[in-house]
Amino acid sequence: MVMRADAVVVGAGVVGAAVAEALSREGRRVHVVEQGVPGGAVSGASLACIGTHMMDEDELPLLVWSCAAWRALAEHSPVFEYERCGQIRFLDHEHELASARHWIAMETGVGLGSRLIEPDEVRRIEPILKGPILAATWSPDDAVVNPFLAVRTLVAQARSRGATVQSGTAVSGLALEGGRVRGVETAAGRIEAGIVVLAGGPWTGRLAATAGIDLALVPRKAQCLATVARPPSIRRVVGACKAEGGVDAGYTQIQQARSGQILFNTVLAGGITADGGPDDIREADRLFMRDSIATLLRLFPDLADVDLLRSWVRYEAVTPDDRFLVGPAGPEGLYIAAGDGGTGFIRAPAVGRLIADHVAGREPSFRSDIYAPLRFAGAGRA
Ligand SMILES: Cc1cc2nc3c(=O)[nH]c(=O)nc-3n(C[C@H](O)[C@H](O)[C@H](O)COP(=O)(O)OP(=O)(O)OC[C@H]3O[C@@H](n4cnc5c(N)ncnc54)[C@H](O)[C@@H]3O)c2cc1C
Repeated sequence: MVMRADAVVVGAGVVGAAVAEALSREGRRVHVVEQGVPGGAVSGASLACIGTHMMDEDELPLLVWSCAAWRALAEHSPVFEYERCGQIRFLDHEHELASARHWIAMETGVGLGSRLIEPDEVRRIEPILKGPILAATWSPDDAVVNPFLAVRTLVAQARSRGATVQSGTAVSGLALEGGRVRGVETAAGRIEAGIVVLAGGPWTGRLAATAGIDLALVPRKAQCLATVARPPSIRRVVGACKAEGGVDAGYTQIQQARSGQILFNTVLAGGITADGGPDDIREADRLFMRDSIATLLRLFPDLADVDLLRSWVRYEAVTPDDRFLVGPAGPEGLYIAAGDGGTGFIRAPAVGRLIADHVAGREPSFRSDIYAPLRFAGAGRA
């Protein structure tokens, strides 16, 4: 049987779901094809913190818009546990202060509320954070969402506007004809559409390659630990404020889910590995576990008796400049929405918006050249 739609979105992670939502909002008949279940891959493994702090100056307008879009969605559909809990980023070293001040100046310049705070104020905002720190930045508007429910909400929004979702079906390749895309091929048959958006997370490069397109995407390991559920104690997202910036400089993220589990990870500089791939999910690294537990207990000594419940590993899709690939690529009608760089939840609504702009042929809502999918063509891989 041949199915037809205006647009096929491949992948129902947070990015594909946001793209489907944005395209269906504009009256397009959208069909989403997902090899597993919506939100079941990287998105479901996420800590899903939504914020603008210490991200990227060129991307600030997009980030501000995207965070506001999440807030607006939460007002209309308060079912995905959106919580504006704020984020504390602790500093351990004097040399991190200059960088923190730089970020804060930039953010307050566009009206955001981040500021530098002393340890005393940190204790007032997060009383259980008793470990030694030099200072911290505080971004009160940062939020967290439940990643599964957030993806489902976006999918439900798209469905309410007529989108259809086909789970458990892998797209095996693109249907091309005369230099333009005609749809996608699946084991269940061809789906015809003049617009195809590849939002396959770390699998996107493989799909694009079926059309001869070489995307500069590499997998990067992301790991996390969870404790057993405990009574509510950590109220904020607690992260490290690294002067060097970027995930490669190392990071810490600690938060407590509504379920009561404390979710946390610490990667020290140089600890990031690109071994393995999205289908090759092994145990969390022992060194990662050691560093994560050490950081948790240093900051929160009262948690010394907490039991660890589980750990998990996923592979995010990363580009050489840590920015998304968003926009048209190769054959007419083909679009890419991938390369999350580990912050895809924050950006997903804006990525959806940019794809809808490109498809409609109108002026992009945000600066879009920095996301051009083929900007690394010929420059080799990361
Ligand atoms: C531990 C951890 C913590 C994180 N913390 C944060 C955070 O605090 N804030 C933040 O913004 N981000 C965070 N991230 C990153 C964020 O989760 C990702 O950027 C985001 O989920 C990527 O979404 P995606 O839709 O691109 O990918 P995915 O969720 O992987 O979705 C891609 C989908 O495409 C499907 N697919 C692939 N190939 C095919 C095919 N051939 N046919 C059909 N379907 C296909 C897959 O099954 C998958 O469901 C974190 C990630 C991890 C792992």
